[in-house]
Order: sequence, then structure tokens, then C-alpha cells
Amino acid sequence: MSTIEATLHSNEQKAKQYVKNVYHATEQRNPHETEFLQAVKEIVDSLVPVLARQPQYMESGILERLLEPEKVISFRVPWVDDQGKVQVNRGYRVQFNSALGPYKGGLRFHPSVNESIIKFLGFEQIFKNSLTGQPIGGGKGGSDFDPKDKTDMEIMRFCQSFMTELYEHIGPDTDVPAGDVGVNAREIGYLFGQYKKLRGTFEAGVLTGKGLEYGGSLARTEATGYGLVYFVQEMLKDNGLEFNGSTVIVSGSGNVSIYAMEKAAEFGAKVVACSDSDGCIYDENGIDLDTVKELKEAGNERISAYTESHPNAKYLDDCSSIWSIPCDIALPCATQNEIDEETAKALIANEVKAVGEGANMPSTNEAIDVFRNNDVLFAPAKAANAGGVAVSALEMAQNSSKLMWSFEDVDARLQDIMKDIYQNSMQAATDYGTPGNLVAGANIAGFIKVADAMIAQGVI
Ligand code: NDP
Repeated sequence: MSTIEATLHSNEQKAKQYVKNVYHATEQRNPHETEFLQAVKEIVDSLVPVLARQPQYMESGILERLLEPEKVISFRVPWVDDQGKVQVNRGYRVQFNSALGPYKGGLRFHPSVNESIIKFLGFEQIFKNSLTGQPIGGGKGGSDFDPKDKTDMEIMRFCQSFMTELYEHIGPDTDVPAGDVGVNAREIGYLFGQYKKLRGTFEAGVLTGKGLEYGGSLARTEATGYGLVYFVQEMLKDNGLEFNGSTVIVSGSGNVSIYAMEKAAEFGAKVVACSDSDGCIYDENGIDLDTVKELKEAGNERISAYTESHPNAKYLDDCSSIWSIPCDIALPCATQNEIDEETAKALIANEVKAVGEGANMPSTNEAIDVFRNNDVLFAPAKAANAGGVAVSALEMAQNSSKLMWSFEDVDARLQDIMKDIYQNSMQAATDYGTPGNLVAGANIAGFIKVADAMIAQGVI
């Protein structure tokens, strides 16, 4: 072994030990936060080659700092329901990292929300936002409030109370929340209205995902789903494949799913299945997206109602059944951990060729290993679903310049951003010895920019 090889080998051993120690300490400090620990494990393991080659990252304690949020805000959200009864929920905002710009990331309203889920989402957001090339840090927030079955007035009162607690902590140059599960244009409108009332000024840049009448961006609604398909298209192209003529399944039937289905169909794919948390529909002729939009965007219906107007479609009474439907390309766009090891094996048995993550962390780490070990092309969420936050950053740019760009302009920028994320992730994977591994490449490319900015800014 030459001296250089020996040094590299010794640095790699040091990096492995460092990552192991840091992860162990993180487990001890956050013992019950399973989702957060899962997200941390996926990232830190892939950083070993970077830490080995650039030991200054270890010397400056970069991972210890990165894994600790800058601020965790938790607050009571009291509100009054339509029966006049007081209800109490818990609100969160995790301001994880501001090395690249103001904290940026969505708000999730769902009964499953807890500190672990918000921390996993906020942690992933740091790297995703870095990959977009836009000047935004990472954050996330939300509440265990369940908007399902609530009236419009209940949702408004909840949003007003939530913002009454949150407004002091956010601002166009401090922290800019957006939507996520359970938070769409209606909720953003109520949150924005209350922020404006409390501050007494019109600060359009404090929230993104706004209505077009008061500072929203064209193509923001479509951005995550379209961006996912643009990203997967690059990956397919590089491997001699394409959407055209492929059979696709897309889990969920919310914002990300609907626009992923729309763009995939526009690219010539046949989308045969989608789902909600109750079950899934399988339409061999190709899903009629107008019906899905009517049920889910315009109405508050269950996906099972699709079969009323499409009697030839099948309804399967279990959302996880979607993964047993044969397809060339699977786009999980519903929620975290919807694909585990067994599900990944079932997809492979049905000869899936590519998986693109639209949801955040929809595949477990074991499922990712199964895909990679079986040569399934795999586009990780951090890179593949970054289109939403990228267009949110474009919304911020439009707000601060007081301009509104055309749909075509925003969409063209989105396409360029997704191509760049793909290229940069592939390049990082090659540079650090794992060619073609987009999981490692996205983590590494996202990490280096944040780590360099943190080091440049001193120990803060
Ligand atoms: P929505 O609330 O609009 O939609 C979520 C959809 O997933 C709903 O159809 C919901 O069904 C369904 N769902 C929930 N759990 C399951 C399940 N276990 N199996 C099948 N379907 C399920 O959320 P979004 O589309 O905005 O977000 C989806 C995912 O994408 C989340 O992980 C989010 O963090 C991520 N994401 C979203 C971005 C955005 O811009 N919106 C940006 C980047 C990531 P039901 O109606 O029954 O609740």
C-alpha cells in the first residue's frame, strides 16, 4: 500500500468511526424519535467518503452541529369548534439550519404529526433546499390537528390561532413556511391573513403557496409533481428508458400525486393506479385524472367514489395493495415509509424498472437497499421532489421584486432546476466513488454546500 493509499484508508476508518459515534450520540439524545433517526442514518452513512477526503469537516464538528436544530419551537394551539367547545392541539416549528438562507419548509396538519416527524422533515429539507441552488435554509412545522371532517370556519379558527403563536418567529428574511400534507391554498390564505393582521403590514414573502391574487406563483401547485416527473425523466433517459409507453402507478391522490400523474400522462405514460389512505383504484385503461381532480381537489371525497363513474375500474380496500399492481415505474407520492422491504421485493417481482419518490421518505432504508441491489433505478425524495420548494423560492424572488412571471417561465426554470439537481447528484456520486447512486450523490451534493457555508460562518 502506498503512503497516499494508507492515509486514505486511515481517514476512511476515522470517518466511519466518527459517523458511528455521532449517530450513537444522536440516538441517545433523541431516543424515541424513530423517523428522525431513520432520516439521519440514511444521510450520515453516505457521507463517509466525503469526511474521509475532507477531514476538516470532522475537525469542525460539522455533523454534531448539523444534527442539532438551531431552534425547536413548540406551542399550544387552542381553538373553538362549531359546537362552542374548546379544542387544543400542539403546534411546532423546527428551524433546523439557516446557513444558506432563511429557514424554508412546509407546514403539515395531520393527526400523526409529532416532534420526530417534524424533525425528520426539517432535517431532509436542509439538503433538499441546498440541492435546488436557491438561497434557502431548512425548516418544517405543523400540528397534530386533523383538517379532515372539519368545517371551513373551524379550519379558519385553527389557522388563526396557530399563526397567533407562530408569527413572532417567522418573516420574509427569517423563516418562510409553505404548505404540506393538510395545508393547501385555503389554509395558507387563512394563515397569511392572520399574519398580516398581527404585523400590520403586507409582507408577501412570509409564506409561499399563496393564492395568485395576493402574491402566489403560477406553477407552484404543479411544481412538486411536475418536478418529480422531470427528474425521473432525466434518470430514465440516461438509462435508455422513457415515460412514453410505460405503465405507471402513483400512490396518494393529493397535490403531489395529481400533478405527477398529469405530467407522466403528458409524457405518454399510462397511469393505471392511485390511492388514498383508505384504498386504491386500478384502472387498466388509464386513470381519468379529471375525475380524480373532481373528487380530491374540488371535493372532499374518498378515492373509492371513482368506481361510481368508472365501473370497469377496480377498488382495492387497502392502500398498500397498490404496490401489488404490475408497473414499469412506481411513484410513491403519499407519505413516509409506505414502501418497506417486502413491498420493494413485490415491486421487483413485477419487474419494476424505476422508482421515483414524490413523498418525503416513502421508502424505508431497507427498501432502498433492495432496489439498489436489484438494479432498479432509484430517485430519492430529497432530489426528486425538490421542485416544490424550488418554485417556492421562485415565489419569494417574485415577491421581493414585486413581479409575476408567466406559467411558462416558471415551468422552464423548474425544468432547468430539476436537470441541474440530477446532474449535480450524479456528478457527486461519481466524484465520491459510487457512480449512479443518486441516494449518496444527492446527500453529498446537498451536504457539501451547507457544510462549507457553516464553516465559513464560524462556530455559530
Ligand atoms: P396531500 O395532503 O395533498 O395528499 C396526500 C395524499 O396521500 C392524500 O391523497 C392522502 O389520502 C394520501 N395518503 C396518506 N396516507 C396514505 C397512505 N398510507 N397510503 C395511500 N395514500 C395515503 O399531500 P401532498 O400531496 O402535498 O404531500 C404528499 C407527500 O409529498 C408528503 O410526504 C409531503 O411531505 C411530500 N411533499 C409535498 C410537497 C408539496 O409541494 N405539496 C413538496 C415536497 C414533498 P387521504 O385523502 O385519505 O388523506
